[in-house]
Order: sequence, then structure tokens, then C-alpha cells
Amino acid sequence: MSGDCFSIFTLLRQAWTGQGGLKPMWREPEPKSAYDAVIVGGGGHGLATAYYLAKEHGMSNIAVLEKGWIGSGNVGRNTTIVRSNYLLPGNIPFYEHSLKLWEGLEQEINYNAMVSQRGVINLFHSDAQRDDHVRRGNAMRLHGVDAVLLDREGVRQRAPFLDFDHARFPIHGGLLQPRGGTVRHDAVAWGYARAADRRGVDIVQNCAVTGIRVEAGRVIGVETSRGLIRAPRVGLACAGNSSRVAAMAGLRLPIESHVLTAFVSEALKPLINTVITFGAGHFYISQSDKGGLVFGASIDGYNSYAQRGNLPTIEDSCEEAMALIPALGRLRLLRHWSGIMDMSMDGSPIIDRTPIAGLYLNAGWCIGGFKATPASGWCFAHLIARDTPHPVAAAYRLDRFATGHLLDEAGTGADVTMH
Ligand SMILES: Cc1cc2nc3c(=O)[nH]c(=O)nc-3n(C[C@H](O)[C@H](O)[C@H](O)COP(=O)(O)OP(=O)(O)OC[C@H]3O[C@@H](n4cnc5c(N)ncnc54)[C@H](O)[C@@H]3O)c2cc1C
Repeated sequence: MSGDCFSIFTLLRQAWTGQGGLKPMWREPEPKSAYDAVIVGGGGHGLATAYYLAKEHGMSNIAVLEKGWIGSGNVGRNTTIVRSNYLLPGNIPFYEHSLKLWEGLEQEINYNAMVSQRGVINLFHSDAQRDDHVRRGNAMRLHGVDAVLLDREGVRQRAPFLDFDHARFPIHGGLLQPRGGTVRHDAVAWGYARAADRRGVDIVQNCAVTGIRVEAGRVIGVETSRGLIRAPRVGLACAGNSSRVAAMAGLRLPIESHVLTAFVSEALKPLINTVITFGAGHFYISQSDKGGLVFGASIDGYNSYAQRGNLPTIEDSCEEAMALIPALGRLRLLRHWSGIMDMSMDGSPIIDRTPIAGLYLNAGWCIGGFKATPASGWCFAHLIARDTPHPVAAAYRLDRFATGHLLDEAGTGADVTMH
């Protein structure tokens, strides 16, 4: 419902008048036959791209085409963690740019996205892992990013419920990024959608792209379930479906699609006031404002386009939860769900032109693209509007898999164990 409904006076008025005066947050336009640019995929990245195209580059004759409904993809399915604790020069400035955009997002789009900088602690469990975390923390600080090394007691003060006494993988300490935290995932989609709509962007739901029209090496539009839509510039932001959509233009991407599952427990009184990641496995946990513990682990081992998880992964995730916090064994799981991850071959994303003129690609976010949403939209909009990469995303080239300039952050952000 529309933005001013968040004012206390509007809420009171609506409560007394049967809520008849609330308007939809965005229009439901019929798609036009032609636009200046079309974004395929109405997830966080596609919506943010449309918003920044309109706001920063003055392009409002654009459409976001979404095959389902806004929020039906990974943007509404993730575990909400945001951070910029990376190691490589190609990654740190991009993710820090994103974190800075998160810090101003609610004022920017006038929407409560529940941005909560409650801190992210990556635990380490051996001397070697400590060295690795120290190195990463130093790289972050050299780039002006906040990083604090915690010893075992420092971690215990912040999270006394962790298993410090009988753990198979004893906790030696943790790397804390105080400015990291969580953001309410689907509010991000709704907020960007509303803000883009208000700048004239057409958000077209239930509109699947079924083909990409190319003439003489240049994109001229997309075929959709609602007819042909012409556009000289087409941006693909399809996350887990990136390979399938790019294949419509004859492109074969260095991406595999895998399932990742998230879990929410029954509600508890406040227990975990930060985000904690387990360094001896792959597990991350925080507590939502409603009280549920929100956690996740690793991707399923085989490729899939199903938005549902499988029992072995569920068992594995719960084992990791109990290895870290044994008390969780008494907790009841409320629900779990899954999303389709676009796993790139070096763990880093792609924001680049393609060999087809006018066709741009935003993909390869693996399991960590939610935190990138604002910067991804910002940089993809820059690329589409100016046909040149934004400086902080310049390393996310498609041809790096051929030239060997990989962004392989083993042991840091792109490594799934550092989620
Ligand atoms: C369980 C889980 C936990 C995660 N946890 C985190 C986390 O804590 N932190 C973090 O940073 N990241 C996390 N991620 C990753 C993050 O959610 C994704 O990397 C990110 O959301 C992907 O970008 P998006 O929002 O644009 O994707 P999506 O929301 O998936 O958007 C892509 C859209 O494209 C649409 N589409 C596909 N094909 C077509 C077509 N042919 N025509 C039209 N539309 C099409 C889809 O329907 C979809 O809506 C997690 C993901 C999952 C599933």
C-alpha cells in the first residue's frame, strides 16, 4: 500500500475508516510496445537498477519485466545479511559502496527496510584461520572499512550462548564488522519498486521473457508472454535463471544454478543481537525482530531450478546449528524455503556488456548477492546508461573466465564458508 500509509496519522485514519483509502504501492501497467531500456528480472538487482537509471541517469521510459511477482525470487528468500568484509581490491570497494548505500537507503526511498547494523562476526577456530582473518581485517582497514579482531573472551562477551567449553572446533576468536548487519529482504524489493514506479518506471509482473531479439549483432527487444517489447538496451538481472535467459541470446555463461535453503525457528525472546558465522563449517545465524532465529548453511550439491530444499541439507544445517549453539537442539523449526543461486565459477559476480551490443549482464551473485543489491543496481544502471563499467565494478568482467583475471576470494567473501 502506498507510502504515506506509514505516517501515524494515516494509519489511524485508515484504522477508523476501514482502510479503504490505501493505494497500491506501484501501478500495474500494460507493457508498452517499446521502451528506451528493459530490465529482465524484478528481483532486488533489477528493481534497484531501474530506480537508479531513472534517478541518476534521467531514464524513465523503462520497464522491469518479472515473470512472477515482485519478491518471488531470491530477494524475498535470503537470510538478510549485509556486510563488506572482503579481501581483494576488486571486491572491497564495491561491497563498501553497497554498505554505504544501505546506510542511506531508507531516507533515499522513504521506506522502512529495517536496516539494522548489528554487526557481523566471522568466528575462527584455529591459528591458521586467525591469520587469514587478520589479513582480511587489515585489507578492509586499508580500504577504510571497519574491522575489529575479537579474541575468545571478546566473542564470549557478545555471544555467551556459543559452545566455548565442549566444542569439537573450539572458538579462538572472531573478525567483527560492526557496520554489517541485516536488512529486511522483501521490504527492499517493495521499497525499490515503489520508488522506481514513482519515477515513471513500468513494473510489469507476470511477464516472462521468452526470447531475445538480435539483429546484426545488436539487441532490438525481447519476446515475452505478453508480446514483443522493443528496446535498444536490455539488462539481464535474472539471478538463478541467468543461464537460461542468456541462452535465449545464444550466450553460454560460466554459471551453474544450485538451491540454497533458509530456515526460521519459532520465536524466542531476544537471544542473538548480532550476525554470527561458523568458521568450521558453513553456517550463519541471526535473530529477526519477530524473534525467530534466521539461519542457513550451504547449497545443495547438485544443479537445480527448484525453489525447494532437500532433507540431507536440512539435516546438515541443523547439525551445524547445534555444533555452534547446542541449546538450539530444543528449538522447533517453524519453516524453511529455498532459492535458486547463480553460482559463478570464481564466486564473484558479473556486471558487464556482452558480445551483443546493447545487451548487458548482471549475474553470478552466488549466495551473497543480497548485500550487493544497492551497489549492483547503481553500477548496472551506470553501465546501461553510459555503456562503460562503473569504476567500483570494473573487475566484474565477463571475459575474466577466458583471460584468467579471476576474483577468487578463497577464505573470504566469495568463499561460501565466509557467508
Ligand atoms: C536461502 C538464501 C539465503 C541467502 N542469504 C543471503 C544473505 O544472507 N546475504 C546476501 O547477501 N545474499 C544472500 N542470498 C543471495 C541473494 O538473495 C541473491 O544473490 C540475490 O537476491 C540475487 O539477486 P536478485 O534479488 O535480483 O534475485 P531474484 O530476486 O531471484 O530476482 C531475479 C528475478 O528474475 C526473474 N526472472 C527469471 N527469469 C525470468 C524471465 N525469463 N523473464 C522475466 N523474469 C525472469 C525471477 O522470477 C526473479 O524474480 C541468499 C539467497 C538464498 C536463496
